[in-house]
Formats: sequence, structure tokens, C-alpha cells
Amino acid sequence: MRPPERGWSPPQRPWKGSGPRLASPSAGHREVQLRLETELTFDEYRTQRGWETATLSSCPLCEQGACHFHRLGTYMRKVPMVAYVARYYCPEQHTTFGLLPDFYASRMPGTLDMIEEVAAKAETASSMEKVADEVRPADAPDAVTLGAALVWLRLRVLIARAILTTAKGLMPERFGDLPPRVSAFRQRLGTLRVLVALRAICEPYLHRLCAPLGLVPRPEQVLEGGHVPAQSPGPDPPARAR
Ligand SMILES: [Zn+2]
Repeated sequence: MRPPERGWSPPQRPWKGSGPRLASPSAGHREVQLRLETELTFDEYRTQRGWETATLSSCPLCEQGACHFHRLGTYMRKVPMVAYVARYYCPEQHTTFGLLPDFYASRMPGTLDMIEEVAAKAETASSMEKVADEVRPADAPDAVTLGAALVWLRLRVLIARAILTTAKGLMPERFGDLPPRVSAFRQRLGTLRVLVALRAICEPYLHRLCAPLGLVPRPEQVLEGGHVPAQSPGPDPPARAR
């Protein structure tokens, strides 16, 4: 039985959700996401406790040795199951750096694979209601009304389409001829993990793109007045987390 319709009350807050809720290292500190380049799936990362080996060798904002940059444990993500993201902190810049593995959606719960999966289903389904019922079944512990499940699904379909449209615009020579459909990109890229692949392919633009593909904000933007330090790694993404 689905719960009674009560207007739209999303099961997960799409843009805030279980994103970083940090014990603040200092009042007003800022959070920057960096890419943790990985081909692991969520399950592999979780099983292998990938957050324990994720490292960032130096502060992306300061000259080597000029600050007290250090590891600051992890923060928790709850969807699809509890796992952690490695975190670093620069006290001089009042900035934390989260090393977000490639499969995670940025600034919303869950993974890019989860978004892709439901968007792909929606592309081939005879009705959105059917897909909504399949991906958010009425007997699931987190069941929502069919209306809410539809909103949940449509949001993900829109997100996937927006990401694919963005990729087309950024790389017209590579994707310009494709419709913004998961199936078309899967065929072109030869993978069932298109959105994860696009995290890597779009790396030079990640700090300019919107979540959940993009990583925000770019580290330079956390500096007062948009000042970019001389030792900045450059206008594009900083130090890759390895
Ligand atoms: Zn620093």
C-alpha cells in the first residue's frame, strides 16, 4: 500500500539530501569537492573502504608547506547505503576538501549510476507510471505515493538529459550528432556507466558544471574576492585527488 497522497513531499531532498553535513572545523568554513578518480562501483568502493586509501597530497589553495593542511577524517553519505568520503582541511583558508569518488552524484543523494539506470528505463518504457512503480515500488520501506514517485523519476530523467545535453554542447565533435538519450550515449561510449564516464570526460569543466555531475565550487572561488593565488594549479580543476 502506498501512503496517502499528501502533496509533494520528496523522499529525499534532491539538491541537499545526504550531502556533506560536517562537524564544522571552524565557523563559516567552506567546502570544496574534488574528484576522486576511480573506476570502482559504489559496491566495490564500499567493500574496499575506498575512503581509507583516498589521498590528497597537498593543499590545492596554498603553496606547498605554507599551511597546516591535513586530513580530517570523513563525512558520511547514506544513499544507497552508508559509505564515507575522505576529507581534508586547510585551516588557513578555512576550507574543507571532500574527495568525491566518480560514481557519486554531487550535492544530491545516491550515485550517478542510479540516475542513469532510471533514466535509461524511462527511455524505453511504455509509461512513466510503470517505471515509477518499478523503481519506487509501493511495498518498499521508503515507499512514496505514485505522484511523488513520478516527480522523483521525472527529476532524474531531466537531470540525465541535462547532463547529456551539456556534454553535447561541450564536445560537439564527439557528441553533437547524438540525441540526449542515455541509450545513444551508451552506444557511443561503449559503456553502461555513461554519467560516470562523463565525470572523467568533462573533467576540465567539472568546477563550472552544475551538480550532480559538476563539482562545486571551484577552489579559487572560495578565496576572498575571487583572488587566484599565483601558485594556483590553473583555471581548471585543481589537484586531482588520487
Ligand atoms: Zn592551505
